[in-house]
Amino acid sequence: MNEPNGQDAQDGIAGMEITRSVAGTDVTLKVTSQTRSYLGTGLHVHASMAGGNSVTLVDPATTPANASRQQVEALFERVHLCACRTCGQPAFDPNYHDTNRAGQCERCFLRDLRAQLDAGQQAEKERFAKLDAEHKAKGFTHRVDAHIHPVGGGSDRAVSFYVQNASDAEIRRELKRQGSASPDDFKTVAL
Ligand SMILES: [Zn+2]
Repeated sequence: MNEPNGQDAQDGIAGMEITRSVAGTDVTLKVTSQTRSYLGTGLHVHASMAGGNSVTLVDPATTPANASRQQVEALFERVHLCACRTCGQPAFDPNYHDTNRAGQCERCFLRDLRAQLDAGQQAEKERFAKLDAEHKAKGFTHRVDAHIHPVGGGSDRAVSFYVQNASDAEIRRELKRQGSASPDDFKTVAL
């Protein structure tokens, strides 16, 4: 077999996928198109385990174009697992891997993330319920929920304000005044 070099070696690892047991857990290394896109910053290979937890393994000394299959396999030595801090199932160890999972398995991470989102939405609902009641008591009739699309581009921002029997034309005028290029993007909620 020839020495790995240039395009030949790269084709040698293209699409390469290999699974091995690491401390009793099946870990799969996969060479993706991203492996090639990090030219000059070493060999980057996707590593995943059952359940979806995944990280990127890096061998900074190897350029993807010259990488051999053995060099990809050698990345298994860089895999460090830990017990999920919530349920004890395997996860990638955040002390060794660049991951936002913080030592949780994918299932626990996603469940906690969903719970945080739900709590945030619940808090937002309660905040509006309180504001709605306060404004109704002051004589307002509707809440306007709108998105301001800045004239000249940039990202949209959500706004809410209260009106007293305002016509659509008046609401559009207010949204224009607030700098929106698309003043039709609103809905009204009766209080
Ligand atoms: Zn877990």
